[in-house]
Amino acid sequence: MRLSDETLMDVSKRFRREMDRGLCRDTNPTASVKMLPTFVRSTPDGTEKGDFLALDLGGTNFRVLLVKVSDNGRQKVEMENQIYAIPEHLMRGSGTQLFDHIAECLANFMEKLGIKDRKLPLGFTFSFPCRQTKLDESLLVSWTKGFKCSSVEGHDVVALLRKAIRKRGDFDIDIVAVINDTVGTMMTCGYDDHNCEVGLIVGTGTNACYMEEMRHLETVEGDEGRMCVNMEWGAFGDNGELEDLRTEFDREIDCGSLNPGKQLFEKMISGMYMGELVRLILVKMAKEGYVFQGRVTSGLLTTGHFQTSFVSAIEKESADKVLRELGLDPSPEDCAATQRVCQVVSTRAAHLCAATLASVLRQIRDNKATDRMRTTVGVDGSVYKNHPQFARRLHKMVRRLVPDCDVRFLRSEDGSGKGAAMVTAVAYRLAMQHAE
Ligand code: BGC
Ligand code: MG
Repeated sequence: MRLSDETLMDVSKRFRREMDRGLCRDTNPTASVKMLPTFVRSTPDGTEKGDFLALDLGGTNFRVLLVKVSDNGRQKVEMENQIYAIPEHLMRGSGTQLFDHIAECLANFMEKLGIKDRKLPLGFTFSFPCRQTKLDESLLVSWTKGFKCSSVEGHDVVALLRKAIRKRGDFDIDIVAVINDTVGTMMTCGYDDHNCEVGLIVGTGTNACYMEEMRHLETVEGDEGRMCVNMEWGAFGDNGELEDLRTEFDREIDCGSLNPGKQLFEKMISGMYMGELVRLILVKMAKEGYVFQGRVTSGLLTTGHFQTSFVSAIEKESADKVLRELGLDPSPEDCAATQRVCQVVSTRAAHLCAATLASVLRQIRDNKATDRMRTTVGVDGSVYKNHPQFARRLHKMVRRLVPDCDVRFLRSEDGSGKGAAMVTAVAYRLAMQHAE
């Protein structure tokens, strides 16, 4: 699981090839990295204002937000937000039930804030791969992470949400934009730093977006200007590009997942799988007698029991407390070994992300045709933000793989929530200008 710089360079090259294949019209249908157009072309210019609703689905929490953008002198953004639970049976039930639930949460939120009689513009952060033909039409390609609802794949999620709201009949909204969480992250960071042209998420899932030249994006008409591309890099490897690097543990995770054979890169990296990877390794080590005096407990044997937050806790302090909670009686050596396993798994994740991010940075540099490039990457996600070492290891490896880029990493403050509102605000401003 420890990858040399040489191997990471090689991964970066393979990924760059897949990016190219995703961008070109002829190869796109068979490319693993889909490079999906987002129809986001402009970033906020600071003149947007108004009240916007936002939905954030697909991250650690499902949330409804009200974002107030005011513009008296200096633009200010204020937010109210509420987390709603999505019970597991709804994450894997019928699509209708899921969208009914979303509409109900929205109704509850508007009721609470006393805005149910207003028809507000809404931005929907829907963090799954989608085919968009415009900003407010978004066909789900396939569910990822913990979701698998029937009759949504291949359908427009805006239409499904509109239908669920119309069926209730107690409020109305104007759905203006659907965006990916990476796009929201890039947009919110772009607000503070105009060099921001990449959005990165390492959370429950992993993915990135960046601003690409329209002339390279063959799947959309037109050659002028740039458009944000949702890369869906979690699917890298789905055509066998990572077979030499995947371990028996990666294969086991994949076999037991909701989407076998899919999102193979994501499964080596993101928060939904990191704890489970560590658990599988520890189980094998115990069974072979290397740790815990060869004993396993039901706590250690239960799928999903070893959360990714444990990996963070163990690397921050020690493994003792976590292992005891799993019913084990660890020796100091067991604790040291467990901590080492966590380090190896989380470092591999950070380094693989660095390899693909390096390809994105090279692509942007080549687009600009400059030798030394300066750019900013907006980042969000529970692994990036909560793991004690992940960010540092990622930054260090990116700088080693692309020494000729000055990269700034900017943590996004609530990209998935605020970002949807910002995209909506921009679209709304442009629509108003057209109407005038
Ligand atoms: C989804 C992406 C999303 C990423 C991070 C992946 O599973 O396919 O659309 O951006 O998770 O949330
Ligand atoms: Mg999020």
